[in-house]
Amino acid sequence: MAGLETAAVVTVGTELTTGHRLDTNGAEVALALAHAGYIVSEMVSVPDDRDMIATALSDLIARRTLVVVTGGLGPTHDDVTREAAAHVVGRALLRDARIEEELVARISPHREPSSAVSLLHQADIIEDAVVIPATTGTAPGQIIDHDGHTLVLLPGPPHEMRPMLRVALAGRVASAPPVTLRCVGITESDAGHRVLPQLERYPGVDLTLLGGPGTVDVILVSTTGDPGPLEDARAAAEQALADTCFSTDGSTLAETVVRLATTRSAVVATAESCTGGLVASAITDVPGSSVMYTGSVIAYANEAKSALLGVDPGLLAAHGAVSAKVAAAMAEGALRLPGATVAVATTGVAGPTGGSIERPTGTVWFALAATGAATRTEVHRYGGDRGMVRQRARTTALDLLRRTLLES
Ligand code: AMP
Ligand code: MG
Repeated sequence: MAGLETAAVVTVGTELTTGHRLDTNGAEVALALAHAGYIVSEMVSVPDDRDMIATALSDLIARRTLVVVTGGLGPTHDDVTREAAAHVVGRALLRDARIEEELVARISPHREPSSAVSLLHQADIIEDAVVIPATTGTAPGQIIDHDGHTLVLLPGPPHEMRPMLRVALAGRVASAPPVTLRCVGITESDAGHRVLPQLERYPGVDLTLLGGPGTVDVILVSTTGDPGPLEDARAAAEQALADTCFSTDGSTLAETVVRLATTRSAVVATAESCTGGLVASAITDVPGSSVMYTGSVIAYANEAKSALLGVDPGLLAAHGAVSAKVAAAMAEGALRLPGATVAVATTGVAGPTGGSIERPTGTVWFALAATGAATRTEVHRYGGDRGMVRQRARTTALDLLRRTLLES
């Protein structure tokens, strides 16, 4: 099978190359192009400089079937993408009377006259370009055919760019779109060691590993567009990753927990110390969680653990707050919340201070209590700073819920 068509993404904006703004358009466009069946071979950011934009575009349009450009279509002096693109394809910029009329109708009477004039530059269309009307902003997008290659110009603001990108790619669906297997409780390198040997049989499938706080995305991309080998590779990788893989459709760990609890009519409660509500927040971020979630007790101080969760002060004195016994008592306390059938608890040392020889920073105890079952506990020791420890603990707590729900 022939290789896929290649594409390039160019993000224009001095704010991007100076580091003042994160280039989110580049990632969004690249993902959309992969799902539309292109291999994105190059991605560059260039400042708002006409010559630099023109150099990048003429270079890329010669090599790639499609070049998608975002940014620099606005009305201000630094918006020069239109001029640069017109120069590269050797065509004139023509004022579109209908677009100009629409812009005039939208110009506020309070605007400086010179600023109103520059606003009208957004009606300048490259000769023979297909216009993508602006629905959320004022600058239209443009699609230009150049010797069988296509140049697409889109505005920079992500909420304006997004709908126009959909229009530009309408009707194009990859025959073998990328597959993401999301995993938890496994390191990036272990995931790679499990999956790579499986891929030897599929030379047209590339592997990318993307680590998060306690999660790993295993991304399989077809370089040929042939869906058969990609599907076989997905099945082999999924089998190798076994129960560490929690989603194949892009859903998050919290979404997976909400779905599992809902289908099993389970009701989840949480008792959080070091995570301070992160687990509750992740669950309640998911629409529909009200069906399967009763609530959380954030018990940070020892006194709060006793007063709100009924943890015996004797346990706290004997074992310390960061212990299996206290984690178990917290989970059992949360299980008394109205309707709860499953409860998870977290108690740990997020740092940077508070660690000791027995309980170094990053030590977190978890407990899982469920009606009719013995309470289970486990301990994890995470590296990283306070934020990383807390996020990883959130992931582990959600994974404990997931594994318990899977068994029920
Ligand atoms: P522009 O079309 O260049 O006038 O872009 C207007 C605004 O869109 C910029 O000030 C940024 O806030 C935003 N923007 C432009 N390019 C990007 C990008 N690549 N990623 C995220 N935001 C962007
Ligand atoms: Mg700009």
